Amino acid sequence: QAKEASGPHLQFFNAGLQRRFAHQQALLSALRKAITEEALQVYYQPQYERVSGSNQITCMGYEALVRWHDDELGWISPGEFIPLAESEGLMRSVHKLVVKKVLADTPTLQTLNPEKPVRVAINVSASQFKHSKFVDDMNQQMKVAGVSGSAIELEITESLLIDDIEQTAKTMHELKESGITFALDDFGTGYASLGYLKELPLNRLKIDQSFVQDLTQDSNATAIVQTILALGRSLEIEVIAEGIETDEQLATLEKLGCSQFQGYYFSRPEPLHALRNAKETT
Ligand code: C2E
Ligand code: MG
Ligand code: MG
Ligand code: MG
Repeated sequence: QAKEASGPHLQFFNAGLQRRFAHQQALLSALRKAITEEALQVYYQPQYERVSGSNQITCMGYEALVRWHDDELGWISPGEFIPLAESEGLMRSVHKLVVKKVLADTPTLQTLNPEKPVRVAINVSASQFKHSKFVDDMNQQMKVAGVSGSAIELEITESLLIDDIEQTAKTMHELKESGITFALDDFGTGYASLGYLKELPLNRLKIDQSFVQDLTQDSNATAIVQTILALGRSLEIEVIAEGIETDEQLATLEKLGCSQFQGYYFSRPEPLHALRNAKETT
């Protein structure tokens, strides 16, 4: 009886698993192809800064975000394909491709902002940052492209500070010699001990977007944002808020003393040519 009851259920389960497996396999072979053909794209989301004492907010840099469109599968978000790339050992190729495209686009991003040098922020996963060839790869790629490290910021996450803080600090200092700066992404969501922050050559903390989104209706979020801003001031690390979607969120952040911003309210991530157009029409 019991066996019979489980029969059809088991079959359904298998069919579901099978579909998922087939989908993963299709995704994986499409991803391999996209990497080989260098078809992954990079979009750029501007980051803004309030110049103190002025009523102007100006672009200070861009965050590079990888994008993948497949003819059959459509748009696949980094949230879906990055974990796959990680588990299949493809992340080093993804990272090198993103870096290559960013370095090729950097001179154009600079000409869009002739007033001052801009930085481009590149997300680096922990597995890449810990890779023995990471520093060599970065330096080699910058040399080939003829781009100085001062144009590059690397966004790392708190997980790197928990795992092996000594090795992380060593790698950061090596990269810093090339002029590269560092931002701590999704700050406030991890469990890194705050004591480590002052040991590291960190240029910027990025307040996680979840706190920004809860700002106007949640006093805990306000307290967390205030704490991060105070931390930044006392450690002399810049603080940027990400995920700003409304003028209310912006106003609240400014009232709390935040002066660097990123989010849909200002601009979505865009391909390079759209950034150029946006600049021309405004
Ligand atoms: P992240 O680095 O924290 O990037 C911010 C994410 O929030 C991006 O999603 C961005 O499109 C989105 N975002 C920006 N402004 C807003 C806003 O106002 N509201 C909302 N709701 N979202 C906003 P995306 O591009 O899907 O990237 C997701 C994550 O994937 C990134 O989080 C980053 O961890 C990772 N990622 C993206 N590109 C790369 C890459 O080239 N390399 C690596 N290792 N990771 C990447
Ligand atoms: Mg980021
Ligand atoms: Mg983030
Ligand atoms: Mg994130």
